[in-house]
Amino acid sequence: MTLKPILIHPDPRLKKHCDPVTEFDKDLARFADDMLETMYDAPGIGLAAPQVGLIKRMLVMDCAKDTKAGPEPMVLVNPEVTWKSDELNVYEEGCLSIPGQYAEVERPKMVRVKWQDVEGKAHEQEFDELWATCVQHEIDHLDGVLFIDYLKPLKRQMITRKMQKLKREKARL
Ligand SMILES: [Zn+2]
Repeated sequence: MTLKPILIHPDPRLKKHCDPVTEFDKDLARFADDMLETMYDAPGIGLAAPQVGLIKRMLVMDCAKDTKAGPEPMVLVNPEVTWKSDELNVYEEGCLSIPGQYAEVERPKMVRVKWQDVEGKAHEQEFDELWATCVQHEIDHLDGVLFIDYLKPLKRQMITRKMQKLKREKARL
């Protein structure tokens, strides 16, 4: 397995509408494993393919809080929200592509999502609480939407400027 470099906002690849995955081959399974390893290493609870430069509809996540129960890695290929609750929930969100920045975002508290696994088999499941927020945040990435897009323009610009500065500093190293 290989750690993939995570793209930092602003980057045009993070604003793309991703294409569906059509080939369920060994390369896809390997890429999913690399994404999981990259996510755990970061560390983070979710990572979408475009964040590591693959403009395809795939994400990985693990929101298991109880470490004693062990990790619960999930790989969702071509995920689609099929139902959202009217009830909303607010979480302080962050993003591996926007390091060190956090803000409260309101989203449906529960969602039902259908997706395919790396072998192309169909699944459908309801997600609640942190899992629901995480899966919505990651699916947003597949449509080029970042959590800061839900914030007021001034706050969003402030964060973007900080990230531009961070990238300039990194480039100098
Ligand atoms: Zn993110």
